[in-house]
Amino acid sequence: MNTAYISIGSNIGDRLHHLKEAVRALHAHERAEVTEVSSIYETAPVGYTDQADFLNLVVCVKTLLDPYELLAACQHIENDLGRVREIRWGPRTVDLDILLYNNDNIEAENLLVPHPRMGERAFVLVPLLEITPTIEHPVTGIPFAKEVPDDTGVVLWKKVTGVEQLL
Ligand code: ATP
Ligand code: MG
Ligand code: MG
Repeated sequence: MNTAYISIGSNIGDRLHHLKEAVRALHAHERAEVTEVSSIYETAPVGYTDQADFLNLVVCVKTLLDPYELLAACQHIENDLGRVREIRWGPRTVDLDILLYNNDNIEAENLLVPHPRMGERAFVLVPLLEITPTIEHPVTGIPFAKEVPDDTGVVLWKKVTGVEQLL
């Protein structure tokens, strides 16, 4: 069994509904199970800042899918929820990014794991560390908790204590 951490974000329409639909769809996959979820955070956009605030969370998935199959499953969920790619880092109904997959270091054309920008994103690290406070970067061995960037744009929006709250 493999362990993956996935960051999920939404900043269009019914954001909570989009997050829940994404968690449900991952959990409904016959070869994946969502075992842990973070609370939901409201976060200021980074990169392209002229857009609405996001809701973000991180989930832990136990899966028999290989990393590429997991990416395809994530993209399928994005498409099902009506994601249209327009502006890079722009508004989206839902974005599912694979942060970590076991301790793998993947450098493929369509898949980089650990996610290359996760270390600079408080909206990713704050929920990740809520689930797994001592997790380390698989390549450098440095605990992610040691290098959390400024997290003032990341505000607890809804405390979540179990997966069933989001299903
Ligand atoms: P960012 O990756 O900076 O968060 P984004 O999530 O908005 O940006 P997308 O438009 O969702 O970017 O994805 C662009 C491409 O990133 C996808 O086509 C996918 O193949 C690729 N990609 C590479 N590594 C990953 C990963 N770890 N998780 C998800 N997508 C990835
Ligand atoms: Mg992303
Ligand atoms: Mg993405």
